[in-house]
Amino acid sequence: MFAKVIVDISNTNVDKLFSYSVPENLKAAPGQRVLVPFGRGNKPIEGFIIELTEESGTSFQTKPIIKTLEPYTALLPDQLALAGWITKAYHCTRADALRCMIPAKLRGSRVREKTVRTLRISPELDPAETRASMLKKDGTAKAPKQLEVFDLLNSPEAEYSASDINAFILGATAAIAALVKKGVLVEANREYFRDPFTGHEADPTEPLPLLPEQKNALDAINGLEKGSVLLLHGVTGSGKTEVYMQAIAQVLESGGGAIVLVPEISLTPQTTDRFRGRFGDSVAVLHSHLSDGERFDEWRRIRLGKARVVVGARSAVFAPVEDLGLIVIDEEHEPSYLSEITPKYSAVEVAQRRAKLTGARLILGSATPSLTSYYRAKRGVYKLAEMPERINGVPMPHVDIVDMRREFLGGNNSIFSALLLEKLKNCFEKGEQAILFLNRRGYSSHAECKACGFVFTCPNCDVAMTYHKINSELRCHYCGASFDMPKKCPNCGSEFIKYSGIGTQQVEEQLYQAFPGIRVLRMDTDTTRGKTAHRDILDAFTAGEADVLVGTQMVAKGLDIPNVTLVGVVFADSTLFHTDYRSSERTFQLLTQVAGRAGRAEKEGCVVIQTNAPHHRAIELCTKHDYKSFFKLEIGDRMRTLFPPFSVFIRAMFVSENEQTAAESAGRYAEGITEKLFAVLEKDKAEKELVYVMPGAAPIRRREGEYRYAVIIKLARTVHTAGAIASVYEFSDTFNDDCFRGVEINPQEML
Ligand code: ADP
Ligand code: ZN
Ligand code: ZN
Repeated sequence: MFAKVIVDISNTNVDKLFSYSVPENLKAAPGQRVLVPFGRGNKPIEGFIIELTEESGTSFQTKPIIKTLEPYTALLPDQLALAGWITKAYHCTRADALRCMIPAKLRGSRVREKTVRTLRISPELDPAETRASMLKKDGTAKAPKQLEVFDLLNSPEAEYSASDINAFILGATAAIAALVKKGVLVEANREYFRDPFTGHEADPTEPLPLLPEQKNALDAINGLEKGSVLLLHGVTGSGKTEVYMQAIAQVLESGGGAIVLVPEISLTPQTTDRFRGRFGDSVAVLHSHLSDGERFDEWRRIRLGKARVVVGARSAVFAPVEDLGLIVIDEEHEPSYLSEITPKYSAVEVAQRRAKLTGARLILGSATPSLTSYYRAKRGVYKLAEMPERINGVPMPHVDIVDMRREFLGGNNSIFSALLLEKLKNCFEKGEQAILFLNRRGYSSHAECKACGFVFTCPNCDVAMTYHKINSELRCHYCGASFDMPKKCPNCGSEFIKYSGIGTQQVEEQLYQAFPGIRVLRMDTDTTRGKTAHRDILDAFTAGEADVLVGTQMVAKGLDIPNVTLVGVVFADSTLFHTDYRSSERTFQLLTQVAGRAGRAEKEGCVVIQTNAPHHRAIELCTKHDYKSFFKLEIGDRMRTLFPPFSVFIRAMFVSENEQTAAESAGRYAEGITEKLFAVLEKDKAEKELVYVMPGAAPIRRREGEYRYAVIIKLARTVHTAGAIASVYEFSDTFNDDCFRGVEINPQEML
């Protein structure tokens, strides 16, 4: 027997199948991780068995596999197939694709199964008799410590580790040893799963009777063909999660498993508790705040079938769930479903592929679906179910727009409009809570000399530094550089510095000034660095320990706090005028999401959006909760300008310390790729007109000390785009240039 193995080295030179012989007594299967001798020195290297064959398929002498790394296959058959697809679709090595499927620390055995040595009373003894034998004639203990230990363990379930016993009974070590020696206690090795939920129970819940629209949605899910997709377009609070849970329950009943993806940021205890409350211990969670041990053990619980429902962030789409029946992607429009590292995959695309491979059904849920998804649903590529109403007739919050330019002309120079101040006051008087959202952390986004106009920019990047008042420092949000705020302008020596653009720190400070005695919590990347910081802030806010929560988009998602009746968007335009073709879509999504945090229960909610662009479509239609109109207008623009979904957008990056070098490389690439694409599309003259190749400086021209140039390739979506993409990859592989940083399809940020 022979095995075709991919070695776990991410290098294109070894990115192929190698044949090994399988020793007689070795149990090997596709998907199993193995140790194999590799290279001239026969160095042991980890690898994955892809298939077993009768023939070696090579004229060389094959070397034998050294050993298997786990007694089980780390990869399921569908995961092997998925990895193959990822390799092609995202142009990465097979090793990179396979690595997605396992916990990082499994490689190199950097994390291990944990067993604890436990102790219990020997099952061969009669407990009563044994206890009697431990007493003197007068009824007192012969050895008091030993008796104490015996009593602690004297029940059928009692099985504790020595350290647990020591925690109960001080200095019990000698007594334990003595009892083991006498044969009263026996030792056992118990497998132990590190539990990310320790000390945190979720209240059990029962399925709710569904409302008609939920019922329709569930029926639509049940009517889906295997491997196909349903877009569940439901406003915030329309009961999507309940629909997901009932769909999952059906899958579990028929013996299958399910994966639920939620954006990392909304993987709060609130979200996971809803699933744990319904499905108990069969829920596993996978997110970035787990320790390596916890992640490994959750992964193993899934692989070994102990957990059948996986709730996790982007990478949980790879979870080793057998008999996968359902994948749910909540808030499917979220950019966090796009991977920023190799392979740069989209979890939505991967889920679609995995559904096809396994026959699982895929639900994409959102209040504001990505334009691409909604477009597909409209065209019938996806099934569509809509839930336009909130549960129990809770009205959508009333949204007011405040034109901040008028506010300024009217003499209000503060960051809060009169309306927002009044609503905040009202809210606090009633003992209700508010959320203030601003998509920028720090104190202010620019520091500028009033005398000479000098702007404090990052020495490494082409961006203004953000002023953080708390430690009086300037910080670059792109490279992390920071230095103390100078007292004087480095250019002219003036002491008059103007701060403009607001950040969350300033909002917090101004709140204290406007409402003395108020309690404010702030949530942004500056305040959530610790492992539990995010959870702690949310817990405190939910428990009513603060009147206002101020934060960046972290506060926009997943929060469901009945006492929150007011949401203020301090400045809506901060995401609007980006160079990114998606900025309007993203602003609409973000605002809708933030607005959805208000008035989730009986108390009516209201929203105040402050802006300088009150008539921008993304803002105006958000106040009317009118996704459909927004979609119609926006998709029309995309069609006219040939942006996705009507084209594929590819970006090639060139980075160098020398600006000219980067620019020239980009130019060379642009020329070469144009020629190549035109050659590929030679047959079809019309198609050539649908290819655009544009070299130029990236919007942030210098970052971390290096100049950045890009070639943007836009390919209209036609029958030949797949071939065109393949030739872009092909050309890129052979484009020999030190500045070249590779190509990305539909990159998630254009900066
Ligand atoms: P979404 O996921 O669409 O934002 P949720 O699932 O969070 O909406 O539902 C909003 C609220 O309505 C939750 O508190 C949920 O418990 C409640 N809810 C959902 N479905 C029902 C139902 N059928 N009957 C009563 N309450 C429901
Ligand atoms: Zn100056
Ligand atoms: Zn910088």
